Amino acid sequence: MIVVMEKGATQDQIDHMVQRVEELGLKSHIIVGTERTVIAAIGEKREHTKDALETGPGVSDVVPILAPYKVASREVKSEPSCVCTRKLRVGAGHLGVIAGPCSVEDEEQIVSCAHAVKAAGATGLRGGAFKPRTSPYSFQGLKEEGLKMLATARDETGLAVVTEVVSPEDVPMVSKYADVLQIGARNMQNYRLLEAAGNSPAAVLLKRGASATMDELLLAAEYILNEGNPNVMLCERGVRTFESHTRFTLPLASVAYLHHKTHLPIVIDPSHGTGHAYLVPDMAVAAVAAGADGLIIEVHPNPEQAMSDGYQSLTFDQFDKTMDKCRRVAEAVGSKLGEACEVGPVK
Ligand code: PEP
Ligand code: MN
Repeated sequence: MIVVMEKGATQDQIDHMVQRVEELGLKSHIIVGTERTVIAAIGEKREHTKDALETGPGVSDVVPILAPYKVASREVKSEPSCVCTRKLRVGAGHLGVIAGPCSVEDEEQIVSCAHAVKAAGATGLRGGAFKPRTSPYSFQGLKEEGLKMLATARDETGLAVVTEVVSPEDVPMVSKYADVLQIGARNMQNYRLLEAAGNSPAAVLLKRGASATMDELLLAAEYILNEGNPNVMLCERGVRTFESHTRFTLPLASVAYLHHKTHLPIVIDPSHGTGHAYLVPDMAVAAVAAGADGLIIEVHPNPEQAMSDGYQSLTFDQFDKTMDKCRRVAEAVGSKLGEACEVGPVK
């Protein structure tokens, strides 16, 4: 249920209604909008709850939330959300680009990548230190050593570090180095991991599982939001279909659909979405045209030598050219690419 406060409701009235919601055994989430504040009351629906809340001071309306997800839904918050950490700004008209290698391999690789992607317009640096590989024999990442290298690259460039976390126990350690925790496609429904990320001060990039429905993705995001972390970005990275020309099939309709259903920013991953470097630039541009709030793109100083996903990684020069095109399309659709964060880090 959503308790919609009147325009100009006082802080005392809002506090009172939060207390009433909690007395009724429901969890409250306050969403402050530009026009008015709403309080999402989450929990088992009981008889008379609506009546009990409707008569409260400063209450304009009490309406049910129809979507299975609550805090993530547009019903609860009609304005788009923006996730902002260091230089990275994603959502509400800001197009943030996260770029870097699939895996952190050594300090020189990640630091040179950070400088190159920053010069081209990226505001976030990606790089996996914990790699969830399909085969146990593939490179598994440099773990904490890799995180330290990412922190060095961040110190030199100011880019926000986006890196994957694969288990709930690692969340506090990865959060020490990361500005954004990436939850990978293989872990989208690892609910204990989602809860742990929901208790982290870092923002979260939640990738869609290769076979997950939109409702499953949004309910996974709800696990994070429900723990009190509002800084969640959703990432479409392609789904598994009968088609084998591309590694996955990248549905850009997800952007438009998700913008209707949720206020959370939507990031497109054209690298995993296609699996071929030659397809990445056009799909990145198409994602911007479709209204994506962010891009995450694999870039490597020497893709041929990459320890993972080299075949879908752009060179510095290819990334630079891609950014030029994206910038022009972003301007045409009214979003700002790469604008530095003004409101400071989330943590
Ligand atoms: C990655 O970003 O390198 C990755 C493993 O992505 P996904 O979880 O989408 O497969
Ligand atoms: Mn990868």
